[in-house]
Amino acid sequence: MKPTTSPPECRPHCGACCTAPSITSPIPGMPDGKPAGVRCIQLADDNRCRIFGQPERPAFCGGLQPSQEMCGSSREQAIRWLNELERATAPTCII
Ligand code: SF4
Ligand code: SF4
Repeated sequence: MKPTTSPPECRPHCGACCTAPSITSPIPGMPDGKPAGVRCIQLADDNRCRIFGQPERPAFCGGLQPSQEMCGSSREQAIRWLNELERATAPTCII
């Protein structure tokens, strides 16, 4: 059976998921990836990815598809959700 609703599209000028999460693989211009909360160097002023579709774009980025849960209805909601995810998946020190 076909789904009755289509997946949400990426909201123009958002860029939340290119800022809030940490990325551990190299990004052109950020060879060590980026920490959480830091704007990706490849995020242009209009919040579009400069390397979309290119092989240098981290696999992590392709894995983050827009969803109602992540994107919410505003950039602020998306940042909050992504910050929660970052906290929940951060490695914990066991020593
Ligand atoms: S959080 Fe959602 S709407 Fe915002 S940039 Fe990422 S995919 Fe697009
Ligand atoms: S490489 Fe592109 S999609 Fe990935 S975080 Fe940077 S701007 Fe966003």
